[in-house]
Amino acid sequence: MNLFETVEEMGHEQVLFCHGKDPHIKAIIAIHDTSLGPAMGATRMLPYVNEEAALKDALRLSRGMTYKAACANIPVGGGKAVIIADPAHKTEELFRAYGRFVERLQGRFITGQDVNLTPENVRTISKETNYVVGVEEKSGGPAPITAKGVFLGIEAAVKFHLKSENLEGLKVAVQGLGNVGRNVCQLLHENGAELFVTDISQEKAEEVKRSLGATVVAPEDIYSLDVDIFSPCALGGILNSQTLHNMRASIIAGCANNQLAQEEIHGQMITEKGILYCPDYVINAGGLINVYNEMIGYNEEKAFQQLQNIYDTLLEIFARAKQQEITTNEASKQLAEERISNARKIKNKEMLVSR
Ligand code: NAD
Repeated sequence: MNLFETVEEMGHEQVLFCHGKDPHIKAIIAIHDTSLGPAMGATRMLPYVNEEAALKDALRLSRGMTYKAACANIPVGGGKAVIIADPAHKTEELFRAYGRFVERLQGRFITGQDVNLTPENVRTISKETNYVVGVEEKSGGPAPITAKGVFLGIEAAVKFHLKSENLEGLKVAVQGLGNVGRNVCQLLHENGAELFVTDISQEKAEEVKRSLGATVVAPEDIYSLDVDIFSPCALGGILNSQTLHNMRASIIAGCANNQLAQEEIHGQMITEKGILYCPDYVINAGGLINVYNEMIGYNEEKAFQQLQNIYDTLLEIFARAKQQEITTNEASKQLAEERISNARKIKNKEMLVSR
């Protein structure tokens, strides 16, 4: 990888390589863009196959955070940190050393819990820095608000694509009945949708069948059901040539991260099939909205108001994609880049005035 070329091409402002001998630490903090506000991004810990893989992960995910925040109209930028280590080798000293690196950035980067970190690990980091979110859980977790955002996204897609103001009688296939998926099912059921569900946990599937009258199907059958909406709420990479070939739903709208196996190829395939796709990082921004509100002082009413941005932004993305004959994924990137570029122009003007 040509380091500086890659960073310039992806538009990163700063990449920090954190290293130390005692305790031994190797971490990368990628700050993609702070035009809208301080870079926010959780920290993950993985024994990457090599350092290039770790860097790529940090660069890709931090840029994704910039787009997510811009689409959600939340005044934060995009960042991400990766600690290169086996989670079996966690120590208090390691997290405290990492916390000191975060502290040195003086609030340009604010972090929280991602893959292989626990709330306890985040609390250890917070002994060295205040630039951490999720130390005290004030909202009851992000899942309910993420689910509400997904529901609003489904409503926007139904309005745009099926020309309907409500979900009464629509058939929805939900993949994954975890923290978010179960809440999505509840909202869909309350609004008159007919549910078809799957989960690798038989127990979770049976519970939704019992309490919401859902039809349970085997995990491999969920993609090809004759439904109106497919809602992926389990895993990434599930929209691929094989699953899309069999897909009969006319809308794809769910919370899972990185749903498209290959962004361009499968984004295009979805469009060619006449399916309306809600870009994952736009429809699942409820989690970020939740974290942002915890940072500024949690107010449930305010957080739920901001969720409305998901509905409005998606309608704008759908219209833009249709008008320009591009995929909704391309349209969302375009919209995010415009919002960031406008914020940058205002910031530059303010700097000139204050000189
Ligand atoms: P979760 O772990 O609580 O739920 C995932 C569910 O999917 C589990 O019930 C699991 O058994 C099921 N599952 C796994 N593999 C499956 C398969 N092959 N077929 C069917 N079901 C399968 O996770 P969650 O918090 O509900 O998040 C779900 C997805 O949404 C993840 O991709 C996550 O990254 C993303 N996301 C979550 C939030 C949030 O607020 N929790 C926010 C943004 C994005």
